[in-house]
Amino acid sequence: MPAHVIHDQLSTRLRALQPSVTLVISQLARKLTAEGRDIINMSSGELDFDTHEPIVRSAIAALHDGQTRYTDVGGTPALKAAIIAKFKRENQLTFTPRQIIASTGAKQIIFNALLATLEPEDEVTIPAPYWVSYPEMVRLTGAVPRYVEPGDQDDFKLTPARLEAALNANSRWLLINSPGNPSGALYNAQELRALGEVLATYPRVLVISDDIYEHIVYEGAFVSFATAVPSLAARTLTVNGVSKAYAMTGWRLGYAGGPEWLIDGLSLLQSQSTSCPSAIGQAGALAALNGPQALLPEWCGRLRQRRDVALSLLRQAPELKVATPPAAFYLFVDCRDLIGKRSRQAKQCMMTWRWPPIC
Ligand code: PLP
Repeated sequence: MPAHVIHDQLSTRLRALQPSVTLVISQLARKLTAEGRDIINMSSGELDFDTHEPIVRSAIAALHDGQTRYTDVGGTPALKAAIIAKFKRENQLTFTPRQIIASTGAKQIIFNALLATLEPEDEVTIPAPYWVSYPEMVRLTGAVPRYVEPGDQDDFKLTPARLEAALNANSRWLLINSPGNPSGALYNAQELRALGEVLATYPRVLVISDDIYEHIVYEGAFVSFATAVPSLAARTLTVNGVSKAYAMTGWRLGYAGGPEWLIDGLSLLQSQSTSCPSAIGQAGALAALNGPQALLPEWCGRLRQRRDVALSLLRQAPELKVATPPAAFYLFVDCRDLIGKRSRQAKQCMMTWRWPPIC
């Protein structure tokens, strides 16, 4: 893997930034695959299913129809209408077009929301374990990530007491990611409401509800933060996208609903950075959101089978501890008992000076 080299002509801001580890590993996996090695790439969080054919066909038709130009900054009126309908249908959330933005992935929305609002001394509360990009995005704005570790009995979820202990006058955002990457944790409405009660006494704190894994739920039911806590909807940015639900990671289309002042800020930022999300990505997302949704539970069933197979294999190793995740497509394996130890096979490889172990 190439070392993380930062040239001294790059800005101080950039020098503090770590590359996305998952993307670095993905790149290496693609390179090794291209060299003919048999690689199973388990780095990036993406489905190995193909985008559903009707979505692909709709996007091709849109290209032929001349949808190849810049669009409105925050997305076409048709896409915004589809996003509004989705939020209503699936989350019982009501938005006007002015409260909606589409961007180049949920990632761009989260980054832009932080950049648009954070001052250097501000803190962003990030419940651990978290998606690796959150802290780097916060750092890039000059603000400070504040991690909250879960208790042993908390199922990787933030509790009201731990939230209360983490908040202070500098707190500006709370990042809620349910279902969560990498733990698969899923909050129920009651748990979200309990967090909302704590936040009610911190009026400066905004909430990002990162719902990108909404459709990958095996046990329990998904509920979005603003749905569970309507009293805080005016300071919640509900973020979602087509990447994970519809196997469309490469289309780069995410969206969000939130208060007008914030969506206006995100649009301003987007207008001077990427102008608008890709027109072809928007056409694909429109077809995905407005099209039949029957594929989603079917894919979820297949992912659940895979989860169960992977769990039963991992549990054959007594040193590995893994909880059954109720949602998302990750297994968060505790391998602390193995750190510093070598397998018999690896030992043999070391003894014959073959490393990495290719035996
Ligand atoms: N949020 C979480 C928790 C993720 O794990 C990811 C991608 O891995 C994203 C957001 C990014 O989604 P998108 O592809 O829409 O940028």
